[in-house]
Amino acid sequence: MLEIQIDHSRCNLCGHCIDACPAPCLDFDEAETVVQIFDLNLCLICRNCEIHCPKDCLIVDFSEWEATREFRSMVRRMPGQGRS
Ligand code: SF4
Ligand code: SF4
Repeated sequence: MLEIQIDHSRCNLCGHCIDACPAPCLDFDEAETVVQIFDLNLCLICRNCEIHCPKDCLIVDFSEWEATREFRSMVRRMPGQGRS
């Protein structure tokens, strides 16, 4: 299962994860007091959010999902990945 874990106690609300996300998965809540995950179905698993987080408090966890048939078939469809 794909999961994005955010340690809100360490998050400084810089918004880099939101800016770096190519899909509309992440955003602040209305009061802009917390980063929320809106739609994980749109996630491209690019890990940009994790890479750009200066506090290392966001983790894209696809360790369990990686083992699934769905993930393997998705990787095969990515350009330059999988078998030709
Ligand atoms: S992994 Fe990529 S697409 Fe998914 S939430 Fe992070 S930046 Fe957005
Ligand atoms: S990049 Fe990290 S510290 Fe910045 S808002 Fe996102 S989770 Fe919080």
